[in-house]
Amino acid sequence: MPSNTPDTATVGEESPPEAIVAWALRRFAGRELVVTTSFGMEGCALIDMVARHRVSVPVVWLDTMFLFPETYALRDRLADRYPHLRFENRGTALTPEAQAEQFGPELWRQDPDLCCVLRKVEPMRRALQGVDVWLTGLTRSQGADRAALRVVEWDWQYQLVKVNPLAAWDRARVWEYVRAHDVPYNELHERGYPTLGCTHCTAPVPGAGPRDYSRTGRWAGTSKTECGLHRDLPRHFARKA
Ligand code: SF4
Repeated sequence: MPSNTPDTATVGEESPPEAIVAWALRRFAGRELVVTTSFGMEGCALIDMVARHRVSVPVVWLDTMFLFPETYALRDRLADRYPHLRFENRGTALTPEAQAEQFGPELWRQDPDLCCVLRKVEPMRRALQGVDVWLTGLTRSQGADRAALRVVEWDWQYQLVKVNPLAAWDRARVWEYVRAHDVPYNELHERGYPTLGCTHCTAPVPGAGPRDYSRTGRWAGTSKTECGLHRDLPRHFARKA
């Protein structure tokens, strides 16, 4: 890690997420700090933890133009519940029609990595320019790609400090928090969708309830497991360079 990695002496890998959020808001007061969310359950819990501090933090989300109607409705419910937070859509301006014209039809089938770069990774790169600290709802229990997640990391892809307050939790623990604090959440979690992404690339997982986390419904039938927001997709960045 670079020398500007923050002192984390007051929080550790097993600290309660609420304590990590409080530490981050205190430690980075006056710095450019954002929360990002795709409106999954972990993101909703994180938003609630941040909102309790009554600070006006931007909550950045990306409208891929392919989200579920329930996800847009959840965004509205969260904005109503936490009016002091600033929900900012920093999604792409590339319409689905323009994408099909430039890159061919159904890019999410033909080249999902490129589709994710266009609709998620590049918009996030732009949204994070000038940001010092990025709070996420990632957890170590979300699969092999995230198993080594630290509470505080230096993000080489975006060149900023990344804080993952929920790193040690699993979905069952997040669900407990959401229920205990009456946090708005996506009703699709109760209809077999453990995670919420784009409609084209998110399928229900048979038998899954709101306490269950699984990514098997994402890009089902392919080897793709991540959109690239939290892991570089070098092939496409190399192409763009
Ligand atoms: S999740 Fe699917 S539709 Fe959404 S940006 Fe990625 S490939 Fe495209």
